[in-house]
Amino acid sequence: MELKKISVKTKCDNGACRNMADYEIIKEGTMPQARLRLCKDCLKEIASLVKTIKKQLD
Ligand SMILES: [Zn+2]
Repeated sequence: MELKKISVKTKCDNGACRNMADYEIIKEGTMPQARLRLCKDCLKEIASLVKTIKKQLD
């Protein structure tokens, strides 16, 4: 997968978040409109959440 900065005006996909998306996560073969798009704040929070459970994932 790939993480890319976007300039398209679209809402963050994280539930009630009202920010505009800054990044999208591209899984190969996924059409642009179906990609996961997140704002910078949510992306940062998700990154730190992942860090806390990383050991359980491996
Ligand atoms: Zn967000």
